[in-house]
Amino acid sequence: MTDQILVLPGDGIGPEIVAQAVSILECVSQQMQLGLEMNTALIGGAAIDSTGVPLPNDTLAQAKTADAILLGAVGGPKWDNLEMARRPEQGLLGLRSNLGLFGNLRPAILYPQLAAASSLKSEVVAGLNILIVRELTGGIYFGQPRGIRTLDNGERQGYNTYIYSEAEIRRIARVAFEAAQRRGGQLCSVDKANVLEVTVLWREVIQSMAADYPEVELSHMYVDNAAMQLIRAPKQFDVIVTGNMFGDILSDAAAMLTGSIGMLPSASLNEHGQGMYEPCHGSAPDIAGQDLANPLATILSVAMLLRYSLGHVGAADAIEHAVNTVLDQDFRTADILSDGTIQVGTKAMGYAVLEALRQR
Ligand code: NAD
Repeated sequence: MTDQILVLPGDGIGPEIVAQAVSILECVSQQMQLGLEMNTALIGGAAIDSTGVPLPNDTLAQAKTADAILLGAVGGPKWDNLEMARRPEQGLLGLRSNLGLFGNLRPAILYPQLAAASSLKSEVVAGLNILIVRELTGGIYFGQPRGIRTLDNGERQGYNTYIYSEAEIRRIARVAFEAAQRRGGQLCSVDKANVLEVTVLWREVIQSMAADYPEVELSHMYVDNAAMQLIRAPKQFDVIVTGNMFGDILSDAAAMLTGSIGMLPSASLNEHGQGMYEPCHGSAPDIAGQDLANPLATILSVAMLLRYSLGHVGAADAIEHAVNTVLDQDFRTADILSDGTIQVGTKAMGYAVLEALRQR
């Protein structure tokens, strides 16, 4: 059976970077006879312009049946004055909730060739390769009750509910254990079990699953210590699993360790392994249409798509290897440029990766 990939270029630099990533997909599909099929659909501002809504029914229908989704980015100043429900970002949120994409995978990889881009000393971060697995659809961001109420004494009080069921913990833990199996075999679960009961349960459930994954070494860390360790000695981590709010904060901190937003891919998975893959950055309207955007985060998102949703690990490895080769050849887009390297545009960077793939 062929794998169906839905391609959603979106807005700003989205179409430019996605075009490069699609060429890479076509190349590996042909080279390794993967028989991938791709369809393109509208999302975000581009969808608003032609259909009036950020997530057209046709796009959602195609997303539901696709094996995986590749997304560029959505949003831009043109649509900033629309009411919240009609903004481009609603297209993304709609896809996440309709597909039940609860597992967010955010690698923070610092290629040794780019170590100078980090704000940390290069020996601390060179070769960094962490995967943060963040629960995306539960926890305090969604827990009920929530709101701002007025107390009897007239004072206002804000409140939220931090809540996780065993089933929610188990399914995100499964994603994380399996990711650790495919990587370095180490999983660190981050919680605040010394203060919050919900994370006492989190720790218990994850600990109870460890026996099912004997090849994975499980450890636990409080979130405050994890924040400190990420800055002090980030290379000690392989896979980190944590809840929605802690994951939100830690994944952004880890991303900044790499210093280069144009290099970071991401995945959001549901219970069936179906996933949406996108670069961590936005639509970069300031550089859109100028052949300046770095396509590598999107190309690396394609590698994740092949690895996590389609199980084509060899193809994923080949793409990641090709990106490494291109960095070794000193090709750099403007965002990762340093002394002695060669500046290239979006298309030339995509082409360089394609050439590296062809010469394997
Ligand atoms: P941004 O990530 O788009 O841009 C931040 C900075 O990083 C800009 O200077 C931009 O030029 C640069 N940059 C981003 N990606 C780059 C790349 N691939 N190569 C080189 N430079 C790159 O964030 P922003 O400016 O805060 O947001 C712009 C728009 O994107 C907004 O409308 C926002 O809502 C949207 N956005 C979308 C997503 C998404 O689609 N997932 C995520 C974040 C922001």
